[in-house]
Amino acid sequence: MSFTNQEKFASADEAPRRWALRGDLLDFTAAPRWGDTESPAVRFDRDHWLLIEDGRIVGRQAQAPDDSWVRKDHAGQLVLPGFIDTHVHCPQLEVIASYGTELLDWLQRYTFPAERAFADPARSHAGAAVFLDALLASGTTAAVVFPTVHKVSAEALFTAAAARGMRLITGKVLMDRHAPDGLRDDVAQAERDCVDLIDRFHGQGRNAYAVTVRFAPTSTPEQLAMAGALCRADASLFMQTHVAENRAEVAWVAQLFPDARSYLDVYERVGLVHERAVLAHGIWLDAVDKSLLARRGAQVAHCPSSNLFLGSGLFDWPGAQEAGFPVSLASDVGGGTTLSLPRNMGDAYKVQALRGERLTAWVALHAATRGAAEALHLGGEMGSLSPGCMADLCVWDWAHGPVAEARDAVARELHERVFAWMTLADERNLAACYVAGRQQV
Ligand SMILES: [Zn+2]
Repeated sequence: MSFTNQEKFASADEAPRRWALRGDLLDFTAAPRWGDTESPAVRFDRDHWLLIEDGRIVGRQAQAPDDSWVRKDHAGQLVLPGFIDTHVHCPQLEVIASYGTELLDWLQRYTFPAERAFADPARSHAGAAVFLDALLASGTTAAVVFPTVHKVSAEALFTAAAARGMRLITGKVLMDRHAPDGLRDDVAQAERDCVDLIDRFHGQGRNAYAVTVRFAPTSTPEQLAMAGALCRADASLFMQTHVAENRAEVAWVAQLFPDARSYLDVYERVGLVHERAVLAHGIWLDAVDKSLLARRGAQVAHCPSSNLFLGSGLFDWPGAQEAGFPVSLASDVGGGTTLSLPRNMGDAYKVQALRGERLTAWVALHAATRGAAEALHLGGEMGSLSPGCMADLCVWDWAHGPVAEARDAVARELHERVFAWMTLADERNLAACYVAGRQQV
């Protein structure tokens, strides 16, 4: 490797047009089966080169490329597709690790006051920048994000994501009841705000709009109908909301919507459950709900750290696989206590352990990369280290600190090694993070 090339790469703001990255490449060619620690879906190329041109992956090979390629040497480090966090709240960084409540009290006591501050455009813009940089510092290069009810909070996220080249899916939060002053909209104004944001940001670069219903209790039936009409009018729009997170919430929804068959049915009736819908949690769903999700192709964003921290419940991941709906992995900060998806994978394993099940590293990693990308219909853009995909990459030390180093040293086969990594790693293991070929961390 030439020093000049390396120096140029490290100091230049713009990435070179053609460059190559060396490391242990790990991704998936398909969905691994539940329980398989050896899986044909895993693609592991130890000490290989990834070729990148104009921000996209163009090749993957064992031999070093010729001198016309600027080289970035991550030999001995783990190279993964950038992680995709499918459910996380930008304004909640400051209420992470708040003591002593379950979901509904937690919203009133901690979350709503923090979200009110985002009415101030300066706060929204500063908050978006800090938040996206924190995602990148955790190896997360794409996200489906809740801002606040304020239009400016969505504008700020779209603008900040575009500046970083990240794939971002977000939309102004809809809530016109059961929320304090300063955090409620109304149907007509909310619809105007959504239409304007969709016109300006949806499909611009890597930004996409999600019709964003906070959750059924904070929207009137009229507002839910408006949200459904937006989705029906444009099938390229995403939808994000929460569903069946905790038992008190489920009981409240049953009270508020006595005609609905279930919590999920409140959304289904107005056309919000579709193939671009991302529903967070989905812990307390019955068999009819699960088969509906599978029929619609809607995904559940599983949030293990949040579910444990708020005591919400234990998500039935194998049941989801059996029913046939996609599951992605999400931090749900501030309910979750970390933006790190490896730490969430470790928590996901523990959730399944409490249910008497075993989550493999392959199912967990797939859910945070290729699985999430495909569930979002963005599999051609991200989630894999395949030619054609954007060069969204995270590079990791296999071990950080003496305990992890000792564990890594005795790992015998690949699943054992990756499982130990997933259980012990966090943002301190991150060596570099690239978005569309540009180094961000
Ligand atoms: Zn959430």
